[in-house]
Amino acid sequence: MKKIAKIRKIMLSVLCCGQIAACGCCAEICESDCPSILETAAYSTNSVELLILMYHSVKNGIESDYSVTPETLKCDFSYLRENGYTSVTPEELVQFVYDGKELAEKPVLITFDDGFYNNLAYALPLLEEYNFTAVVNIVGEFTEQIAPVDCHVPAYSYLTAEDCEVLLASGRVTLGNHTNEFHHRESRQGCAILPCEQESRYHALLWSDLTHLQDFLTSELSFAPIVFAYPYGFDCPESVPVLRDLGFLLTLTCYEFTNQIVQGDEDCLYGLGRYNRVGNMSTADFFHRISS
Ligand SMILES: [Zn+2]
Repeated sequence: MKKIAKIRKIMLSVLCCGQIAACGCCAEICESDCPSILETAAYSTNSVELLILMYHSVKNGIESDYSVTPETLKCDFSYLRENGYTSVTPEELVQFVYDGKELAEKPVLITFDDGFYNNLAYALPLLEEYNFTAVVNIVGEFTEQIAPVDCHVPAYSYLTAEDCEVLLASGRVTLGNHTNEFHHRESRQGCAILPCEQESRYHALLWSDLTHLQDFLTSELSFAPIVFAYPYGFDCPESVPVLRDLGFLLTLTCYEFTNQIVQGDEDCLYGLGRYNRVGNMSTADFFHRISS
């Protein structure tokens, strides 16, 4: 099926470029700067499967749906290496989609949500040991307000701005925006729009919240994330224009599926699926579950 689709796309590219004035619907790719047939064919048919893993806390003790031990994380990383996976960064995914640059054959995006200090204490050394990279998705109020009060306790502390600076300086970790104050499920489900909420009001609220964290990270770390992770995975179509306007190029959900990343298709980087790495499961069982 894939091969048929590929051939069809090539044929469409050839047909389109041969009928410059005849086909209004193809105007975008029939402009005078239209790439050569071969370039168009390669650009429109190159795609890759992307596995995204979602971790949260990494700490010693009892594992849960949202925490794994350092030993489990090490087992996972060993599995990924032994099975030929290469960790990729959001920037590499963007370059693959937007610029047609090459990407590893079996890419995996490793993500950690909520910005726990133990991501620095326990995960970073393992990322270095296995030559992997990761995205740590920060909640603004956790990092800006809660972390400085009681920092550097691996069991529960959040990353401070200084900790985030260390992560960035490692070259192993990039940061994502996980909202500033929407990481709750009481008044609304994460940052999703409320039933009957006026869309313009929602846009203003979301814009203000996300901008606060972007501005904080820019002023403290000279870094503005291009990744956004929906708290609890509660996404909504009304959020998308705001996320795009703010410059987010990748958005992460909690829907569990493997992604198809397609060169030239910028939309494929929005609403990406991730597999939550529950802690109370062996590495073998977890990867068996997500591959079946
Ligand atoms: Zn979260």
